[in-house]
Amino acid sequence: MKMMINCIQKSVIRIQTLSRASVCRGLSSVSGPKVCVVGGGPAGFYTAQQLLKARQDAVVDIYERLPVPFGLVRFGVAPDHPEVKSYGAEGNRSMGILGENLPGVFSAKDFVGWYNGIPANKELSPDLSCDTAVILGQGNVALDVARILLSPLDMLKKTDITQHALEALATSRISRVLIIGRRGPLQIACTIKELREMVNLPNTRADMLLSDFKEIGETLKDLPRPRKRLTELLIKAMNERNDKAEKSWSFRFCRSPVEVLAASDGKRAAGIRLAVNKLEGSGESVRAVPTDKLEDVYCGLIISSIGYKSIPIDPAVPFDHRRAVVPNDTGRVQDVSGLYCSGWVKRGPTGVIATTMNDSFDTARVLLQDMDTGKLDLSIKKPGAQAVAALLQTRGVRTVSFTQWEKINAEEERRGKPHGKPREKLLDVEDMLKIAWS
Ligand code: NAP
Repeated sequence: MKMMINCIQKSVIRIQTLSRASVCRGLSSVSGPKVCVVGGGPAGFYTAQQLLKARQDAVVDIYERLPVPFGLVRFGVAPDHPEVKSYGAEGNRSMGILGENLPGVFSAKDFVGWYNGIPANKELSPDLSCDTAVILGQGNVALDVARILLSPLDMLKKTDITQHALEALATSRISRVLIIGRRGPLQIACTIKELREMVNLPNTRADMLLSDFKEIGETLKDLPRPRKRLTELLIKAMNERNDKAEKSWSFRFCRSPVEVLAASDGKRAAGIRLAVNKLEGSGESVRAVPTDKLEDVYCGLIISSIGYKSIPIDPAVPFDHRRAVVPNDTGRVQDVSGLYCSGWVKRGPTGVIATTMNDSFDTARVLLQDMDTGKLDLSIKKPGAQAVAALLQTRGVRTVSFTQWEKINAEEERRGKPHGKPREKLLDVEDMLKIAWS
């Protein structure tokens, strides 16, 4: 598969992915189906890959907003996880509590964007001069953030973490990270690999409360295997004490955020008020029910990591606001013939890259099926990318070609070299365009 990228000035970018056959023959002679993918992240690329594998005559154009492709493969995954680079969705769930907008409170999405080089988050400048950080939510994103906050600098230096994040972390005084969940130890949402990384993080110790685990012993043997292994690792972490460690992290359970507490001048967050919950039900479907007990935790940094959320792309595309997904049947968008979806906008913000890959392959399969069965009428000749290019021209939008993206790529790699990093990401769209068009 040969890829051409056309990045578009003013917020939209077009990535054009062509099968090798199409490239050889040139665009004008392409007679196969034309497919447009919106979003140059993993879901878009995996869908395109599968389509092109099955239809050598197809032309797939991928449109992306930024002058750099790969979406959250570039921007989402922790810099020390280059092997799993992926996850996406534009928005984040809001906590809906008083004080949520105070300085010192960040969504995990923005915080991750800050250390991963999302242009919109480059000015975040989180104040890391406090000793305690609170992360709300106990999923893998929460653990990514906790790990980045507590990792020895030498471990991060060789990654593609942004230089400004590295510099801020070098002077960070955060030595304690509390990862807070509304439910119990048997419901934590992270996976074992991420938990193990926390447990093995040098110079840190897990600082769990024995009381949180006292009723688990009995239930352990009946748990499904993955949950059992995760719980055993939690208990092991609780029992192992590394008293020499200078930093600590811990899970706190059965606590829901109620209010961000402001400092005495009212100008920034100084703590968080939590409702103490009781649990109702059993297994994974246990529900957290707040009691009238409250607890205050003092901290200078609060990161809300309670899940990502897709946002509507366009009024013409149906959107289920309650579930924050495009309503679909195996990727076929409901009530709009010829429109398909894949990735988190299709199924919600869960799953690792392999989940997104399989899910995108399913969408591609359904699309190919509709081509084969005639559900999609391919006999009507459509202009495809040519029409989009003409429209962009009338709007005065300039694109960036694949060769031009390669210039950005080369420049980032060049800037990373002196620091021993795979790349130093450009953080400014104007800079990216200047290099692309130079
Ligand atoms: P997640 O796994 O869904 O975890 C969200 C966490 O927030 C859960 O602990 C959840 O608790 C809690 N939560 C949700 N709503 C809440 C509320 N209103 N109040 C308090 N707590 C609330 O989401 P994520 O961590 O953002 O990760 C998204 C997906 O990306 C996951 O599938 C994850 O595995 C994947 N991912 C993978 C990697 C990797 O492979 N290394 C890295 C990052 C992310 P409840 O369980 O009670 O709802």
